[in-house]
Amino acid sequence: SVKVINGREISDNLIEEIGREIAIRVEQGHPRPGLAVVLVGDDPASAIYVRNKIRSAEKAGVSSVVKRLEQDCTQQELDEVVTELNARDDIHGILVQLPLPRHLSEDRILNLIDPDKDVDGFHPINAGLLASGQAKLIPCTPLGCLEILQREFGDLTGKHAVVVGRSNIVGKPMASLLLQADCTVSIVHSKSVAAESLCQQADILVAAAGVPELVTDKWVKPGAVVIDVGINATEIDGQRKLVGDVNFDDVAEKCRAITPVPGGVGPMTIASLIKNTLVAAKQLDAEPQAVGLR
Ligand code: NAD
Repeated sequence: SVKVINGREISDNLIEEIGREIAIRVEQGHPRPGLAVVLVGDDPASAIYVRNKIRSAEKAGVSSVVKRLEQDCTQQELDEVVTELNARDDIHGILVQLPLPRHLSEDRILNLIDPDKDVDGFHPINAGLLASGQAKLIPCTPLGCLEILQREFGDLTGKHAVVVGRSNIVGKPMASLLLQADCTVSIVHSKSVAAESLCQQADILVAAAGVPELVTDKWVKPGAVVIDVGINATEIDGQRKLVGDVNFDDVAEKCRAITPVPGGVGPMTIASLIKNTLVAAKQLDAEPQAVGLR
């Protein structure tokens, strides 16, 4: 029978583990890791994500600050907030919650974050390091998915992984990570002509398309492991409900293991963020840089 992967439990355990390591490091005189989250505007989903991230940071003993800006703030105001955070010695991780209001440039702000503090791993430097096999800070969602897959399979060598979606924040870095783990990797996207038949060959299927219940049982090879990254708010009979990019009931009949939505990939993303904050803090602690040069 199918295994429903409990992302919440794995995440809680990881965050506890990281918390123990942080407590020991602080005891030894290292600085407490600090995370800054920049939240622009009043998107309710973003507010929930930020609250969950801060709550988990605190559980792990990461100190945190939230910088809030108004929906109609200027690019310059946002740039200044990030520049100040770049210069702060007590902040080791910076993330700007996406999406930004449309008048602000995401590319510009992601490029402005100090790559050493880029705990989302979206800076082109970190994307390039990942693509060239020298990863430092890895995007949180793909990293969380990899953690699940390694727990499920152990060694991933030779598995055929199909990633549905090619965004910079999920699909592309996911494919890079799976390549690094010696999988055979296929990527399908909105312009692919044979998405379904490629997916049918997958030992590992990662769905990150942002299309509610796109992946049905016909897409899935019996015994595959299916990772559902999608978070889509829908209304069913007037009730608000979150659904993934996978039709869970259908696919669960056919696959070996599957992540639910919610409670699968979402919590793993947050565990990865806390891990990245510790990685960044260790790195900055090991190679302190002159103030003002950052
Ligand atoms: P995106 O919109 O940036 O990218 C979607 C990708 O899917 C694109 O590359 C597109 O080509 C592809 N695509 C769209 N329709 C397709 C189709 N019919 N067949 C094949 N490919 C198709 O989205 P994103 O930022 O990568 O996010 C994807 C999903 O994951 C969204 O539902 C998002 O909410 C969710 N998400 C979840 C987490 C988490 O923590 N669990 C984190 C980030 C994103």
